[in-house]
Amino acid sequence: MTRVFNFSPGPATLPESVLRKAAEEMLDWHGSGMSVMEMSHRGKEFISIHAEAESLLRELLGVPANYKVLFMQGGAIGENAIVPMNLIGKTGKADYVITGDWSKKSIKEAKTYGKANVAATGEASTFTAIPKQSEWKLDPEASYVHICSNETIGGVEYHWTPETGAVPLVADMSSNIMSRPIDIAKYGLIYAGAQKNMGPSGVTVVIVRDDLIGHALPITPSAFNYQLQAENDSMYNTPPTYAIYIAGLVFKHIKEMGGLKAMEEHNKAKAAVLYDYLDNSKFYRNPVAKEDRSLMNVPFKLKDDSLDDAFLKGAHAKGMIQLKGHRSVGGMRASIYNAMPIEGVRALVAYMKEFEVQHG
Ligand SMILES: *Cc1c(COP(=O)(O)O)cnc(C)c1O
Repeated sequence: MTRVFNFSPGPATLPESVLRKAAEEMLDWHGSGMSVMEMSHRGKEFISIHAEAESLLRELLGVPANYKVLFMQGGAIGENAIVPMNLIGKTGKADYVITGDWSKKSIKEAKTYGKANVAATGEASTFTAIPKQSEWKLDPEASYVHICSNETIGGVEYHWTPETGAVPLVADMSSNIMSRPIDIAKYGLIYAGAQKNMGPSGVTVVIVRDDLIGHALPITPSAFNYQLQAENDSMYNTPPTYAIYIAGLVFKHIKEMGGLKAMEEHNKAKAAVLYDYLDNSKFYRNPVAKEDRSLMNVPFKLKDDSLDDAFLKGAHAKGMIQLKGHRSVGGMRASIYNAMPIEGVRALVAYMKEFEVQHG
């Protein structure tokens, strides 16, 4: 068996030990005689798996007691609608900070459910920098302020937490949740699809402060109503059981690795290997402002884009895959989530050097 270094933006690489554990338990989970996939979500076996996943998530992220953790379906794109359906009803309006493709998608969806205003935008920098908080025009009557904490396509990430006063801060953390410690109390709501840093696609984590629950618009589908999901321990409808199980194994693995502080060290070290090389190269470049660079997704361009195909082909031959940049920005992108080992980043840089020598 040969495993590749998979730089996919998502679904993304998972820790090998987690996959091995899941394989070991595939036919018979802990003597139950069943695969987790075959279990009733209301049976004691799955209830214990669900409870453990939630408790590990709470422990790792330090989720305060006045927040609910929901395991939902619909992905982060689903949440682009589900968040306003549940939250915008308070005042009928919300503020959005636009930092790239994902936050653009979020505001577009929100406009169906209320008045969604652009409080700040990184457009002037062609989304290569996060607008400074001093430039934000926040509406004190907004029901919430929405940000995307890491723009997976553009590779810009907040390395600070916005101050929004009494207005709850909502963050799409799909591509950087669990990559470092965060202060949950500074947020009203956080959502994230699992398939970047937590597990397989199919489960969406929502962490929501109690007082924000219970204001859903009447049109909200029951399965997407935070109150109904909170009252039913995320089991109003059948939850994505297998995805929750794998996420639980990933959380256990992160805990064994030393928790989120250790993840942060590991992620900083990995990103430094790649950015240091990019900054010293005349052949490759990354366009993002240094202070806003993502530790998770590193887009870069070659000096001459006619070499892109040769670059990708050569990488593939060396077992490094999914390096093609998003079609909207072109070039390359290396996604280096928690589960990407530093050896993968070193192998990529070694290949980049070799390619530069041949084509530079
Ligand atoms: C991947 C991603 C999404 C989309 O998630 P889906 O599971 O496809 O709904 C949304 N926002 C961000 C920041 C992402 O990285």
